[in-house]
Amino acid sequence: MSELIEHGVKKYEDTEEELKLFLEAVVDLIAIIDENGFFNRISEAWTDLLGWSQTEFLEMNWKDIIHKDDLIETEFLIKNRRDDGLIRGLKNRYRCKDGSYKWLEWNCKLLKEKGLDLVTVRDITENVEMERRSNELQKVIELETIKSEFFANISHEFKTPINIILGTVQLLNIHIDKNNIKYNSEVDLKRYSKSVKQNSFRLLRLVNNLIDMTKIDTGFYEIHLENRNIISIIEEITLSVAQYIGDKGITLTFDTNEEEEVIACDPDKIERIMLNLLSNAIKYTPKDGKIDVNIKVNSKDIEISVEDNGIGIAREKLDVIFERFIQVDNTLTRQSEGSGIGLSLVKSLVEMHGGSVSVESEVNKGTKFIFRLPKITTDNQSNLQPKVIKSRVEKCEVEFSDIYS
Ligand code: ADP
Repeated sequence: MSELIEHGVKKYEDTEEELKLFLEAVVDLIAIIDENGFFNRISEAWTDLLGWSQTEFLEMNWKDIIHKDDLIETEFLIKNRRDDGLIRGLKNRYRCKDGSYKWLEWNCKLLKEKGLDLVTVRDITENVEMERRSNELQKVIELETIKSEFFANISHEFKTPINIILGTVQLLNIHIDKNNIKYNSEVDLKRYSKSVKQNSFRLLRLVNNLIDMTKIDTGFYEIHLENRNIISIIEEITLSVAQYIGDKGITLTFDTNEEEEVIACDPDKIERIMLNLLSNAIKYTPKDGKIDVNIKVNSKDIEISVEDNGIGIAREKLDVIFERFIQVDNTLTRQSEGSGIGLSLVKSLVEMHGGSVSVESEVNKGTKFIFRLPKITTDNQSNLQPKVIKSRVEKCEVEFSDIYS
């Protein structure tokens, strides 16, 4: 009889030893939890993952370390488990000894007659984190799309009434000029209509910039490269701008080391770049200042610079100046207004030509914007005739509408 007991005890001890070894060696998170929720036995992997020692675990209830926001739902799921006592895929956060949380996925099987839960657990913190990041990214993308669509719609909505206002002012001016309108001659109607026109142009400039920005963002901005003499394009634009700076007494000069250089470019976009840079130069250069447009034809590229001796840009702002919506916010610049879109558009347009743009500046000395276009030509030659750039006057008026006269 005693032999039988001895044998039984030995067998029990062996089983106990084997279970211990198993729990030590196994890399998975395994636990036996009693009916009150206390850890009875756990594998070593729990300590590796959550940081609590074996002894600490065995004094703890799973409810002590579950995230408080997950407790009620987990209790509910455990209480209402299937008849066979199985629960699969219970995902919760558990507190580590250092106070951080890990996401764990539990599979439990209740051994009813023993009142014990056999639990296997998987660390899914990384997966949850990845899922969270991917959801966040998805949300950002959705938001960006909504924002872009909104910008596009609202910009077009603005454009129609602005154009109607502009058309009406133009008609009004014709009638004023022809003396068709009866009004008190002391009322300076012309001045009012000029103000309406200028402010409509400012709105139009903003709207055009917004539309272009949205098109660039959504990949719908088209650029039509043609082989054209870039020198004459730049010269023509510079000269046509001269009349807009007359009042400010700024000297505008143009210089080039070559008279002709045919490259692949989109004249409309080059005009946009130049008008942006020139209007900024005028905006930020005080009365009697100086603006130089210079072209340097190098062996591989063409360097076009617009240099002013205006208020300059602080060193710390130079890195972000081409980012959208950036305005150098100091009291000096407040005298002029703008949206901070212009330079980001310039950068995108230059890059669409395969070029690059940079800036050099010193506060109170001046600013030099330089853009470089590669010396390449295109086979897709649609039109070699110098195109008459239509309504430059209006484009200038729109572009320079931020500058109060
Ligand atoms: P904005 O429509 O506000 O002029 P931009 O993108 O064209 O927007 O310019 C961004 C900012 O860069 C401006 O608000 C201004 O502070 C600064 N900036 C641009 N050009 C010049 C310049 N030639 N001299 C001084 N500051 C400039």
